[in-house]
Amino acid sequence: MTQFVVSQGELMPGGDSLSRLAARVGQTPFYAYGRAQIRQRVAELRQALPSKIRLHYAMKANPMPALVGFMAGLVDGLDVASAGEMKVALDAGVSPKDISFAGPGKRDAELRQAVAAGVLVNIESFREVDVLAQASQTLGLPARAAVRINPDFELKSSGMRMGGGPRPFGVDVEQVPALLANLGRAGLAFEGFHLYPGSQSLSTEAICQALQQSFDLALRLSQHAPDKVRVLNLGGGLGVPYFPGDKPLQLEPIGEQLERLLQLAQAHLPQTSLVLELGRYLVAEAGIYVTRVVDRKYSRDQLYLVADGGLHQHLAATGNFGQLLRKNYPVAIGNKMGQPATQVTTVVGPSCTPLDVLADRVPLPEAQVGDLLVVFQSGAYGANASPHQFLTHPPCVEVLV
Ligand SMILES: *Cc1c(COP(=O)(O)O)cnc(C)c1O
Repeated sequence: MTQFVVSQGELMPGGDSLSRLAARVGQTPFYAYGRAQIRQRVAELRQALPSKIRLHYAMKANPMPALVGFMAGLVDGLDVASAGEMKVALDAGVSPKDISFAGPGKRDAELRQAVAAGVLVNIESFREVDVLAQASQTLGLPARAAVRINPDFELKSSGMRMGGGPRPFGVDVEQVPALLANLGRAGLAFEGFHLYPGSQSLSTEAICQALQQSFDLALRLSQHAPDKVRVLNLGGGLGVPYFPGDKPLQLEPIGEQLERLLQLAQAHLPQTSLVLELGRYLVAEAGIYVTRVVDRKYSRDQLYLVADGGLHQHLAATGNFGQLLRKNYPVAIGNKMGQPATQVTTVVGPSCTPLDVLADRVPLPEAQVGDLLVVFQSGAYGANASPHQFLTHPPCVEVLV
C-alpha cells in the first residue's frame, strides 16, 4: 500500500533513499509529504470529475505552510477552519475570493478578520449573522456569507458523521429560512450554501447519495435565499484506505453523479458553481511518518520494537483519534523493503502508556536498532492532530519532498 518508489531495498520519498532523507532531515522522527504524490492525486481527481467542479482543499487535514503553498497551485480554493489557517492560506498567496471559512465556535475577532480579508464565511449560527453584521458596518464592507446547513440526513458508512440529528455544525434545515431572513435584513452579501454530512467514507454509493440529497436540500432552501445562489459547497467526505480490507474509492460513479448534478444546476440554479471540499483524500496517501527503532526486545514470546516516535506525534496511527477499534495502519521497515516478513512484531512508541502502539503483531522483516520504521497513509491528521507535549519529547519535523 505505498505510492512511493522502492529502489535497492529502500523507500525513495522525493527521489532519495529514506536513509539519506533521514540524514538530511537530521533527526527522527519526522513526517515527509511527497509533492509528486499530491500532484498525481489531484490530477487523477480532475481526470475523473467534470471540469466545472471546483476543487477545494480543507486545510485542517494538513496545514503545513509549505504543503498549503504547493496545494494552492493545484486546487481552486481553500477551506479554512480558523483565523490561524486563514493566515496560512493568505500567506500562500491564495486570493480571498477563493477562501471559505467554516467551523463551529468562530470567535468575534476571527469573524471580523474574515470580513476584513474578504473571505467567504460559512455561517453556522444566528449569533454569527449578528457579529458579521456588526463587523460589516464597522469596516464598511458587506460580509461575504454562505449558510452551512445541518442536513436532516447523514453520510452513511462514514468514519465521522457530521450531519443528521443534533449537531454543533451548521444550522438545522428547519431553522435555515429564518436565518436567511435575518441575513437578508442585516445586509450581508449572500453567496450560497455549504453542507458537510460526513468524512472518511469508502462507499461510492453513500457518497453519491449524500451529494444528491445535499443538492436537493440546497435547491429547496434556495427559495428562501435573499439573493442568487452562486456557490453550492457539497462537502465530499471521500475516504482513503487505512486498514486491511479497505478498498480505494471508485471515482467514476462520483464523476457521473456530479455531471448529473451540474445538469440539474444548469436547469434550476444557473448561476451556481458546485464545490467539493476535500482534506484527507488529497494528502493522506502522500505522507509517511518515519521513526527510528531505539530498542528491540522480547516480552514473554512477543517481539517488541520500541521506536522514537509514536502517540505524541501520530495519535491517529495508534488508534486514539476517534477510532472505535484499534487497527494497524500499514507499516514497513523503510530501509529493508522487499525483505521477507519473517517476524511477527509489535511496534510501540516511547510513551509510558499501553495506548502507544504503532503496529500490533504485524509480520515485518527482521529489524534492528537504528532501522527506520515507516507508517504510511500519514499525510492527514498526523502531526497537527497529536498531543506533542505529552512526555516532552523533541518537537516534530515535517518536510515536503
Ligand atoms: C474536516 C472537514 C473537512 C475535511 O475532511 P476530510 O475527511 O479530511 O476530507 C472538510 N470540510 C469540513 C467542513 C470539515 O470539517
